[in-house]
Amino acid sequence: MEKGHISVQTENIFPIIKKFLYSDQEIFLRELVANATDATSKLKTLSSRGEIDGDLGELTIDIILDKDAKTLTIRDRGIGMSEAEVKKYLNQVAFSSAESFLKKYKDDASIIGHFGLGFYSAFMVADKVEVVTKSYKKSVKPVRWVCDGNPEYEIENTKKEFRGTDVILHISKDSEEFLDKNRIENLLKKYCKFLPFPIRFGTRTETEWEGEGEDRKSKEIEVENIINDVAPLWKNSPTNIEDEEYKKFYKVLYPYSADPLFWIHLNIDYPFNLTGILYFPKLNNSLEVQKNKIQLYSNQVYVTDDVKEIVPEFLTLLHGVIDSPDIPLNVSRSYLQSDSNVKKITSYITKKVAEKLNSLFKDDRKEFEAKWNEISVFVKYGMISEEKFYDRAEKFALLKNVNDEYFTFEEYNDKIKANQTDKDGKVIHLYTNNKDEHYSYINSAKEAGYDVLEFDTVIDNHFIQQLEYKLKDVSFVRVDADTVDNLVRTDEVKESVLSDKEQEKVKGIFEKVVNEKGSTIELKALSPNDHPVVLTKPEFMRRMKEMQQLQGMGMGDFPDSYNVVVNTNHPLVAEKLIKMKGEDKREQFADYLRKLAMLNQNMLKGEDLSKFIEKSLEYAG
Ligand code: ADP
Repeated sequence: MEKGHISVQTENIFPIIKKFLYSDQEIFLRELVANATDATSKLKTLSSRGEIDGDLGELTIDIILDKDAKTLTIRDRGIGMSEAEVKKYLNQVAFSSAESFLKKYKDDASIIGHFGLGFYSAFMVADKVEVVTKSYKKSVKPVRWVCDGNPEYEIENTKKEFRGTDVILHISKDSEEFLDKNRIENLLKKYCKFLPFPIRFGTRTETEWEGEGEDRKSKEIEVENIINDVAPLWKNSPTNIEDEEYKKFYKVLYPYSADPLFWIHLNIDYPFNLTGILYFPKLNNSLEVQKNKIQLYSNQVYVTDDVKEIVPEFLTLLHGVIDSPDIPLNVSRSYLQSDSNVKKITSYITKKVAEKLNSLFKDDRKEFEAKWNEISVFVKYGMISEEKFYDRAEKFALLKNVNDEYFTFEEYNDKIKANQTDKDGKVIHLYTNNKDEHYSYINSAKEAGYDVLEFDTVIDNHFIQQLEYKLKDVSFVRVDADTVDNLVRTDEVKESVLSDKEQEKVKGIFEKVVNEKGSTIELKALSPNDHPVVLTKPEFMRRMKEMQQLQGMGMGDFPDSYNVVVNTNHPLVAEKLIKMKGEDKREQFADYLRKLAMLNQNMLKGEDLSKFIEKSLEYAG
């Protein structure tokens, strides 16, 4: 037996490894199984080049738990190592890469996936690590290497029948959770579910059915417990995959989710290598915290489900898998965003998503419209946050009106341009965010020949601002806003049936009644068929308020101000009110008309509402 000393440069690395990444200790298993996978695929490569004679035999990787001996073994049937290789790779390469990883990590505690610690991560959970290995080269003697967490190691010749490497971890006292079968099985399922060689974790019992009808009997059988799917769907060629398979795979990733709306198969090998499948989930009208995150893999090894540095934020609403060996994993998150490959990957994904949406729009507009409600939040979010996506989405993003008709921006502009351009040349887009509340405003607008859009998703306030900024000469006005009738050119305003003096009188009556801070009174000669009193809201104030609410700021004591628009052509004003005897009676009636308008806007509550009803009964009687 030979003893040696691993050269320690700065300080003793083992205690650091042990303590560090305490919450992420579990990644040791991923690192070791990934090494086992590498060793196996190297073997396959050599064999395919004709450098190894004969059949390779079984290539399964075994994870063996021995509770009594307190060991966990990772066994591969890969290329193995000679004594010289063990000395080189485990004493030097593995050690120095772990050391440099730790140095990097000390400065920045956000290394993505904590990739790169490699073989030495074993010491996070083991106080002794044994490696028993036999090279694929026939003449080379098997060796056993042991290191107990000091820089000292031992190496000796040993016996081993089959080619490959056993890494035997003697689990330390404070890491005994890794002797728990369920814990290990769950970790394997998390990190190794799609590795390219079978990962076997003992056996499991399955129920097998025999016979038919009444003779049908079940029996328990022991089967190999294979953890992984060695050929996950994203690695296949898209041309060979049926829709059903995509849906099935989605269920494998997210077992309790509804079917996805559609998906994109990513597959590129130049200028970077990336495969994957992104699914559009059914999103409801909210940006609820997404439970099902995109999973990032590197050569089928699970890395993380926190991909916000790699995909643009709006795309994190999608689900699925991205697999790329070209994403640097042992760098800090802040570095990642500035990495040129990552930038290319980000814009590639954005482009693919936009192309997919565009082709759905072009190939089957009806179907696209039917799905619009479910994808609109996503598209709008993308258009607000990504310039490049906006430019692509401009062609297929839809506006929906209150009649459930859909238009592209261009189509809609053509539709309303003639009728809804104001005196400043702005094309006014009228909209509602609540069809019920704005019912009467919508009707009035329609009667005037205007079209009304419906915007009712959580991000529409932002989206509207973005559109006003992007689409020149376009302005959005809520249908209950005070500026709606700027649309009507002055020469179209109807004459009032009341004389100037009578109008003064009407105004005087309402001035006595409307005394809320910030509210104003305006007389208008509307149609006799319009309501006697209409409330409108200052568009500017409303928007300010909404923006501040979104940013979590209150508006202090700004009152909910509104304009009281009195229709001087309505018979209840032009005939009934004006002719009423007694100041009290007139004011009560004016107040009643104002409350009626409030009721119409869902603004009448509590005591006011019940008083209003009493008054109605009185008038009706
Ligand atoms: P990395 O895998 O990033 O090179 P590691 O510290 O994990 O770093 O491993 C160092 C080296 O040890 C590997 O490059 C490989 O040559 C060798 N090695 C580790 N595990 C195995 C194994 N199971 N079979 C064969 N060689 C291995």
